[in-house]
Amino acid sequence: MKIIKSLSLNSSKKVRKSSQIKYVIIHYTGMQSTRVSLKRLRNLSSKVSAHYLIDRNGKVINLVETKKIAWHAGKSKWFGFNNLNKNSIGIELQNKGHNLNYQNFTLKQLAGLMKICKKLKKKYKIKSKNFLGHSDIAPLRKKDPGEKFPWKKLSKKGFGEWYSEKDLKGIEEPDEKKDRERAFFTNLKKIGYRYFTPSSSKKVKGLVIKAFKRRFEPKSVNDKITLKTFKISSFLAKKP
Ligand SMILES: [Zn+2]
Repeated sequence: MKIIKSLSLNSSKKVRKSSQIKYVIIHYTGMQSTRVSLKRLRNLSSKVSAHYLIDRNGKVINLVETKKIAWHAGKSKWFGFNNLNKNSIGIELQNKGHNLNYQNFTLKQLAGLMKICKKLKKKYKIKSKNFLGHSDIAPLRKKDPGEKFPWKKLSKKGFGEWYSEKDLKGIEEPDEKKDRERAFFTNLKKIGYRYFTPSSSKKVKGLVIKAFKRRFEPKSVNDKITLKTFKISSFLAKKP
């Protein structure tokens, strides 16, 4: 695969140890075009970057060496990790995003992404479950890569978690209906999600539920914990 280098100075100067790299975070740019995205990711005053940018034709642009820290995740949490930049590799996919005109990701773009993911997974021994979306680690602020991103397809190649209908069979609902919400959020903690507590507001909880559904029930993104939503969370929480 041909990778074009177009280095950005928006990164750490020091290199990190390979063992610090544990996650791959997938984003969309939310910008009008690749040209505009590239400009922003290389502009010193924007203070943002990513290791890779993949355009709509599947062209892969390397902006920051993977051993250096790129500035893509911002304020974020997953399990005990805070501000995941130092422990992750960030990949941006060109897409106008929810605020402009959210597009389907192209097949060429996804093919490019999977090639890069395969390479990174092998090189840094990244676990399948550690391929995440920006909205997973910053659910109150971010929607990317969003409900059009085909996590199911990627999971089949070993990038990210998924479930099958069969996996959900036999999972039981808590005895009391009102316990569903509590059990759901307990599951989310076990999966890795943060930014909520039992006493969080309805608004905060709603955003976290939406982030979860954007990822795992992309055809019904809303803030309702249905029986299926609950079952998916239970299955994922029990996965080793
Ligand atoms: Zn992002």
